Amino acid sequence: MHAVLISGGNVIDGTGSQPQPNTDVLIEGDRIVAVGKNLVVEKSSEREIRRVDATGLTVMPGLIDAHTHITLGEPRTNDELFLHRDPATAAILAAYNVRKVLRAGVTSMFDVDGIFNIGPALRDSIKAGVVEGPTMKSGSYALMTAVGGTAGKLIPDSGTAGYAEVVRNKEETVLAVRRQVKDGADCIKIHVTGLIPTRSGEIQVWTREELKVVCDTAHDLGVRVTAHCRGDKATLDSVMAGVDIIWHASFLGDASLEAIIDKKVPVGPVFTFLANLSEFGHKAGATSSAKSIFAGELENTGAKLRQAYDAGVKLLCGSESGFSMTPYGHWHAREMEVFVKHLGMTPLQAITCGTKDNAVALDEDGETGCIAAGYRADVLVLDGDPSKDISLLGDKNLFRHLFCRGKNIDLSPVEPRAMLRGEQASGWSDVALTREIAYS
Ligand SMILES: [Zn+2]
Repeated sequence: MHAVLISGGNVIDGTGSQPQPNTDVLIEGDRIVAVGKNLVVEKSSEREIRRVDATGLTVMPGLIDAHTHITLGEPRTNDELFLHRDPATAAILAAYNVRKVLRAGVTSMFDVDGIFNIGPALRDSIKAGVVEGPTMKSGSYALMTAVGGTAGKLIPDSGTAGYAEVVRNKEETVLAVRRQVKDGADCIKIHVTGLIPTRSGEIQVWTREELKVVCDTAHDLGVRVTAHCRGDKATLDSVMAGVDIIWHASFLGDASLEAIIDKKVPVGPVFTFLANLSEFGHKAGATSSAKSIFAGELENTGAKLRQAYDAGVKLLCGSESGFSMTPYGHWHAREMEVFVKHLGMTPLQAITCGTKDNAVALDEDGETGCIAAGYRADVLVLDGDPSKDISLLGDKNLFRHLFCRGKNIDLSPVEPRAMLRGEQASGWSDVALTREIAYS
């Protein structure tokens, strides 16, 4: 069995404890087997020991991204996502893109929903060594009612489209959950609120009774349920119906906050997409009024989320990677930065959210997310101290070594690629060619 001794590093173990200087980490196979000062390792004939000198470097758990969409392929619009994807191309692209996620220091990821049920196959391919990637938990299609989700009228009245699977009644709901479980989903995702073109903001599109049908059916099969909730009552109804993880939890009110605290339901605010749009959108040609949306969400939700956190609720770090505003391999550490900057966490607290606590969300508690004996050998070694400056975790240039399931990962950038035919929507022109424009 191969062994690696990472010696003399400044170890951040993921539990929130202060960094331990001059500490060694011993890996055997896919496990961390010892952590301590001056570890003595006997060299035996059965194993070869690789030594990694981490003097002056930080040694910490590999990052965990609790909210990705690896199959979407970075669409710029919902039209592109819903109308310009086919299963074979999307699967091949997902296998290409997931390497970028790994090389950004992410050793485990939760792909919450996606297209064509590719996620479970990708997860199994990574596990089998067919594709290089982080350890993955995967959802399938997001369940919706015919009112829709975040893609307006692109959501059909029934069946699947894009990342959506529309259910029309209790029987279809039960069937869809059971089929997704049969097809390999680790969890069921519900879009509890949706964006309707004729209304501003997202409205609740499921009743509490309907949500309970999903939860009861999934839980009977030992599968968890996560819910997209941009609305106070949507969060309250989801928690009361038995949802296991809430995404966004926008505009939390007192009753929903109390329910979250009472049931200790983890919340992933997934601020990264809005934060990117707000702060950098103009650099990518985005025209959305995201600045005010992000400010509004932070103002309305930030303080409540902080209250939940202080009361022992786990706040999860997810990047929403998969869209043009959140391309793969770039923003997986951004949520931790937002937690420090806008929720007032210390860098160490944010690191715990993005490692140990995220592991709980992935149902991998005690398996990964910590530097301790017995844990899976998911280890990041970087030049710099993220317990002082959390933004360092977003800079791949500082990464010196990455071990995923004990395997040494090549950190060189994934080779660039060309666009595939039909991958992007294209138009004849940006504006209508009027006579005025033609002859001006
Ligand atoms: Zn999402």
